[in-house]
Amino acid sequence: MDVSRHMSQHERAESMRLVTDDGTVTLVEAMDESRNDEILAAVRDQLSRSVGDPSWLRAVDSGADYEWGRLYERLREADASQERIDAIRTLAERFERPYPSLTRVRVAVDPPIDFVPGQYVTLRAHGTPRAYSIANSPSEDELELCIRRVPGGRLTSELFVHSKSGDSVVVRGPNGEMVLDDPSEKDMVFLATSTGVAPFKSMIDYTFEQGWDTVDGDPRDIWLFLGCGWEDDLPYDAQFRAYDREYDHFHYVPTLSRERLLTEWDGETNYVQQVLLAYIESDAIADVELPSSLSAYRSARPRQDVDARIDPAESELYACGMSAMVRVLVRAGRAVGFEDAEMQYEGFG
Ligand SMILES: Cc1cc2nc3c(=O)[nH]c(=O)nc-3n(C[C@H](O)[C@H](O)[C@H](O)COP(=O)(O)OP(=O)(O)OC[C@H]3O[C@@H](n4cnc5c(N)ncnc54)[C@H](O)[C@@H]3O)c2cc1C
Repeated sequence: MDVSRHMSQHERAESMRLVTDDGTVTLVEAMDESRNDEILAAVRDQLSRSVGDPSWLRAVDSGADYEWGRLYERLREADASQERIDAIRTLAERFERPYPSLTRVRVAVDPPIDFVPGQYVTLRAHGTPRAYSIANSPSEDELELCIRRVPGGRLTSELFVHSKSGDSVVVRGPNGEMVLDDPSEKDMVFLATSTGVAPFKSMIDYTFEQGWDTVDGDPRDIWLFLGCGWEDDLPYDAQFRAYDREYDHFHYVPTLSRERLLTEWDGETNYVQQVLLAYIESDAIADVELPSSLSAYRSARPRQDVDARIDPAESELYACGMSAMVRVLVRAGRAVGFEDAEMQYEGFG
């Protein structure tokens, strides 16, 4: 008899043997794009719509290191608005960002490491160990990690330049107590920023694989709110859009703070906790006193056409991303009525 089948996911996570094993990298693949031509066109457009002159960008076109500071000076001298300068500064930061800055890494460990969706492993590569959430379902043989480059970061600076298929790495795990709850009648709400979505990708894949998205034939609404700067920063965007198309009860709500500087993005643009409010059943928060940071969004209208609404009292909440962000998300979750016992979260540091 397979005892683990009768354990809850949390019990399974606690009972799992911590393994340290050698692994082999089988794939390193960029997930974002180099959008430098698009960015220069956008800067040129910003300049032509303001007091600037698109020819000020000639130095970038010629491949020379452009002195963005000199451009801001010229704009200030020409009385450009601060808003315009900030927009160009944001585009310049994206232009200067190394490519790729988001990557998926697959690692084969033999025998495969057993884990529960939501857990993480410690990956030691280039002499540095760091924690990474596992982004795929435990039913797959390999581990998939989704990694963001941190400027000046000890491991990611090496990994983004030198890691390749065939490399030997050491994997230790699984670890982590934020794991998928056992099936219940509750709906599920996932809140993530950037690679904070990795453990949720594992949970969501597994939920659909196991048929945990329905209880006695009734679908549970599953919501994923994912916040990033640019559209190509959304990890697994195509997969989540495919789920959204396939399942009426899966609702994918990406929110992008910067994309409108580049494209006609007509989706959400606010912070995840602000966007969440727009999709909550209005009756559920009608009498709730919200913190001042959220109250302005109480009557915000969703930009996405979704039939369903969230009832926090009937939902599980999962939140993940950088720790400061997760604290904000959890505070917002509490404020709108998610129960503490139904909330799980993890900060990346
Ligand atoms: C449980 C857990 C799971 C994690 N899962 C993932 C994951 O799935 N994907 C992932 O990319 N990272 C994840 N991280 C973060 C990861 O462990 C490293 O901290 C990160 O890759 C930076 O490592 P580094 O050696 O390059 O930078 P370091 O030299 O260690 O430090 C650089 C600084 O950057 C900060 N930092 C860490 N992550 C980020 C980030 N994403 N953006 C901006 N600043 C950051 C750190 O707080 C630190 O102050 C996870 C962390 C934890 C604790």
